[in-house]
Amino acid sequence: MISVEEALEKILSYVSVLETEEVPILSALGQVLAEDVRSSLNIPPLDNAAMDGYAIQASDTAEASPHSPCRLRVIDTVIAGAISEREVTPGTAIRIMTGAPVPKGADSVVKFEDTDETQRQPPITEIGILCKVKPSANIRRAGEDIAKGTLVLRKGTVLRPAEIGVLASLGRSRVKVIRRPVVAILATGNELVDIGQPLPPGKIYNSNTYSVAALVQRYGAVPKILGIALDTEDSLTAKLRQGLDADMLLTSGGVSAGDYDMVKDVLAREGEISFWTVRMKPGKPLAFGTIRGASQDGAIRRIPHLGLPGNPVSSMVTFELFARPAILKMMGKKNLSKPMVEAVLEEPAVNTDGRRVYLRAVVEKRNGQYYARLTGPQGSGILTSMSLANGLVIIPEDKKEVKAGETVQVLMLDWNEEAGG
Ligand code: AMP
Ligand code: MG
Repeated sequence: MISVEEALEKILSYVSVLETEEVPILSALGQVLAEDVRSSLNIPPLDNAAMDGYAIQASDTAEASPHSPCRLRVIDTVIAGAISEREVTPGTAIRIMTGAPVPKGADSVVKFEDTDETQRQPPITEIGILCKVKPSANIRRAGEDIAKGTLVLRKGTVLRPAEIGVLASLGRSRVKVIRRPVVAILATGNELVDIGQPLPPGKIYNSNTYSVAALVQRYGAVPKILGIALDTEDSLTAKLRQGLDADMLLTSGGVSAGDYDMVKDVLAREGEISFWTVRMKPGKPLAFGTIRGASQDGAIRRIPHLGLPGNPVSSMVTFELFARPAILKMMGKKNLSKPMVEAVLEEPAVNTDGRRVYLRAVVEKRNGQYYARLTGPQGSGILTSMSLANGLVIIPEDKKEVKAGETVQVLMLDWNEEAGG
């Protein structure tokens, strides 16, 4: 048996960062930037008003107070998107809206609340300023967000909504990123029926394809669903070959004792494969290897293949532990692990056979402390145990039991509000 770490290290040694592509900025959400982005503009482009009010010369207001307002002649109004052609001179003001460029001559903006505007009838030709205004008040300076020529986003940055917004603020419609991997997904098993079909006796619906495809999508890759292969050499070979243009192939099922030989023969013929027993539960049987494919120029390409166990919980847990980091590495990401928290386990748990156990749990934060409780029956066929969980409690290989109240490590599957994060 090999450890979880050894298995992961081996898998990661077979995958490399993919090429770059140029995509519309909105499609790049979650992708890794493959260029340094410099600004060709000042943002904001011009000094502009941070408040609705009057653009003035601050020195006019040196003696102003609510009892003796300073009276200025209003010579223009400027709204956002327009530029006033008038110039503010001593004794004058220009009515200005938030975001509008500060007119020539003005050195500050006084907000409406500090004027007597509410007591005046439009059209307003004169305004009283009720307080002393500091020079530069309520002015957003040109380039205060981004100065022209500066490095705004560094190559290697993961693009989140804020970075997509920054790119848009620079006027960029497209951006160079590391492309998303295409992950082919193949379910195996004579017992499987695709969703949307009637369910004959003795059969079950193929759920792994959909839970795995959803995980692929969640982590930013593109699923390519190959459907269901029967447990025959011909069926498996034919389906596998449809996935040869992918960047990674995920199969589920056929790696436990029952189907082992047939799958092993096919996979060995189509590439190289190792069957591992990983010291973990769920998910002990795991296959990893490469499948031979051809690249566009006809050269032989080796596609990493991860054979996930068939049990619905096992396939999801092994995906999170092994396929997810591989996908993230291909996407150029550096942080490949999910967040971990320490939590107090609220019920006892046992580890009967010296493997690392991943128990489905609900983690909650109460009074600054995380608490975890299990989601009920933990069989690897009980998919609802995943659906109820937001984390996986880890019982180390060498720990036979954890008592209620002991602290455990929890791998967070979802980092949501209920977990306090
Ligand atoms: P296997 O590893 O092929 O022996 O599968 C182990 C268990 O997982 C069996 O009970 C299968 O019926 C179940 N299983 C395998 N593949 C799927 C799938 N795609 N969807 C749902 N259950 C599956
Ligand atoms: Mg099977």
